[in-house]
Amino acid sequence: MTTLPISVSTNKKTDLLALSLPQLQQWLVERGEAAFRAKQIYQWLYKQLVSDFAAMSNLPQALRQRLTNEATLGPLIVRSEQHSKDDRTRKILLELADGKLIESVLMLYPALGESSARATVCVSSQAGCAYGCTFCATGQMGFDRHLSAGEIVAQVLYFARELRAAPWTAAGLPGSNAIDHITNIVLMGMGEPLHNYDNVLQALRILNSPDGFNLGARHMTVSTVGLVPAIRKLSQEHLQVNLAISLHAPTDELRGQTMPVNRKYPIAELIAACQDYIAATGRQVTFEYVLLSGVNDTPSHAHLLGELLAPLKQFAHVNCIPVNATSAGYRPPGPDAIRTFRAILQEHNVSNSVRAERGDDIAAACGQLRTRFENRQSQS
Ligand code: SF4
Repeated sequence: MTTLPISVSTNKKTDLLALSLPQLQQWLVERGEAAFRAKQIYQWLYKQLVSDFAAMSNLPQALRQRLTNEATLGPLIVRSEQHSKDDRTRKILLELADGKLIESVLMLYPALGESSARATVCVSSQAGCAYGCTFCATGQMGFDRHLSAGEIVAQVLYFARELRAAPWTAAGLPGSNAIDHITNIVLMGMGEPLHNYDNVLQALRILNSPDGFNLGARHMTVSTVGLVPAIRKLSQEHLQVNLAISLHAPTDELRGQTMPVNRKYPIAELIAACQDYIAATGRQVTFEYVLLSGVNDTPSHAHLLGELLAPLKQFAHVNCIPVNATSAGYRPPGPDAIRTFRAILQEHNVSNSVRAERGDDIAAACGQLRTRFENRQSQS
């Protein structure tokens, strides 16, 4: 019998969004209820996307009442919601049961060429973060706590319900179909997901469950600053999620200036762990590289990065991300510098792309909305 994970209870009520299907069956059986009710509840939660036990009309009234008394469904309060002017980026500020604030972002991509439209949720895994990257607003807040699996799942369900209620149509793009469901999840919001390993994996398995939300693991991305032991552990999970590494610099000296974690896990150790991950999974690793003008974006940085990743061959991909303006005062490079940087990577046969900046007008980079909200609170 599967044991229940830690932190599924809030105010003595059990958060059902933190439970896998076998765990929900166990929870019901322990209360004298029939195990088959778990599948019905799962259907209501993840297929019908209801947020209220009263709506679960094929459950006996007594069970619905019991659920209301003894369980919750992700106790989250939306404190603020912002849509970018083009409505392709939506950001919410959520208050957790203990008052902690986290952010989640929905990014909508219209169909382009052969790729169909996507709706990607960028999920937070922690309130605050312990890793202190200097270019990141969350990193300046310090660490509050890990999120439970249910708090992670609830962020995805929020946007899934929103899209179900009002499918998104790309304005000004004739021929693009309305999108009414979540297609991708990225663990790139507040926090370091592999620092909260067990709850993150539990949430991904819940969202991957064919009886529930049924999102393919290949549509989920875990982004890490490079916690080497956790990367090795992840390679043994037999879960086909995508792994993204926040690299951001090609040398220890430079990486250590913006990412304190590099002192614990230097680049050579990190790349070795990635090589072992690739050998174990046969999957490509994406290296996220935030371009900071004048700091890590020169041609010599590009050559060093190309030399570092060339041994990983076609299994390495670099995602160049021009930095969003934050309080740390970094600037994004211009288009020529970006073009040159990418061309040099290509010379080293390292595949690469550039991620379009999203939602600048609503502070889409992680931690910015919370920072602004708290600043407003303290001024009022
Ligand atoms: S970039 Fe990620 S790991 Fe670094 S401080 Fe921000 S949230 Fe934490």
